[in-house]
Amino acid sequence: MSFEGLRHLFHIPPAEGGDYPEVAYFAGNSLGLQPRATRVELNEDLDEWARLGVEGHLDAARPWLPYHELLTQPAARLVGALPSEVVVMNSLTVDLHLLMVSFYRPAGARTRIVIEDAAFPSDSYAVRSQARFHGLDPETTVVRLKPRDGEDTLRTEDVVAFLEREGDTVALLMLGGVNYLTGEVMDMATITKAGHAAGAVVGWDLAHAAGNIPLDLHEWGADFAAWCSYKYLNSGPGALAGVFVHERHHGADLQRFEGWWSTEATTRFEMTPESRPPRSADAWQVSNPPIFAMGPVRTSLRIFDEVGMPVLRERSLHLTTYLRELLDEVVATRPLSVITPREPERHGCQLSVRLHEGNAGALTKRLRFEHGVIADARQPDIVRFAPVPLYSTEEDCRRAAAALAACVEETQ
Ligand SMILES: *Cc1c(COP(=O)(O)O)cnc(C)c1O
Repeated sequence: MSFEGLRHLFHIPPAEGGDYPEVAYFAGNSLGLQPRATRVELNEDLDEWARLGVEGHLDAARPWLPYHELLTQPAARLVGALPSEVVVMNSLTVDLHLLMVSFYRPAGARTRIVIEDAAFPSDSYAVRSQARFHGLDPETTVVRLKPRDGEDTLRTEDVVAFLEREGDTVALLMLGGVNYLTGEVMDMATITKAGHAAGAVVGWDLAHAAGNIPLDLHEWGADFAAWCSYKYLNSGPGALAGVFVHERHHGADLQRFEGWWSTEATTRFEMTPESRPPRSADAWQVSNPPIFAMGPVRTSLRIFDEVGMPVLRERSLHLTTYLRELLDEVVATRPLSVITPREPERHGCQLSVRLHEGNAGALTKRLRFEHGVIADARQPDIVRFAPVPLYSTEEDCRRAAAALAACVEETQ
């Protein structure tokens, strides 16, 4: 299918007035657009509930009891995992906590959790509360890796050097695979290896990576990972998250918080007092899953599966490189800079623009209301633009650059 054809799979929000019927949408890194198929397929699932009541657990066209298994294969392909290594459940931060129950086990001198200084606040709050849960002081337990003075993004060599120097105090290294603020892609293979060499557990938050860049979690050997499905994965606000647990941990003697969905599906209804967890990521499930929240994830993953990440990545590099060339011209004469790394392997869809003066929120309002360009502000000074290969166009990129040029005055 052509990229024009792919764009037609989505509802593009209409523009209010102006020269274009639709907005130029650059916030797919924050909330992806709705696939047209989502409503149709969700209605099919709702119809089965109307038609069957409780019998839908077994008799629905897509039976509810094993519904989550419909998501397993496409989610595994998306992140480069074995099907047994992934499960879709809960929300991202909830999943990070459930995973830290297993994978953050401070002991002796090895108690610290390493995140990036520009970590998403939810991750920061999560690890700080985990430290407190273990009776530790978050101020000394949580290490925040900062870029060098005068730089905006983390260097892989500096992360590795930190691990070589202080790795024997690190219990858990948990970074964003793609940083939400700067759009920087981390070298996950190298950093995972360095974390393991230091004796630490390595987990990845892939909120901004899943559906954005190709991932190879099994091969990289990460211990765990989690991602949400409402950003690049277009599964709707607050959509369910995905979880990866490497095969080597399946069946291992790890702490887990359990519920009736943690036990083998085949013996679940024997209703025994003790669980019998399966040797797969499914063992990390707790509750029976919300089918009508899983539907949109299933629909979206099918689209990703049909198009494939290699095709999407190629288109993404094309669009983002094009947008950068246009922005380079705009920022050359204005108090702005693009802080996302330029090397193709160090960025995904998103480009982050820093304002040297003024306020990001006010600028994104003008972009939206005066130019029909939807970008997204991270206060005080970052505006993020993410052309998304499934539905963004070169024309969108031209509109964004022209709008930015019109909203920010040239310096003399
Ligand atoms: C979007 C995002 C979250 C959101 O967390 P929820 O639990 O889904 O609300 C968390 N971490 C990162 C890095 C994010 O980008």
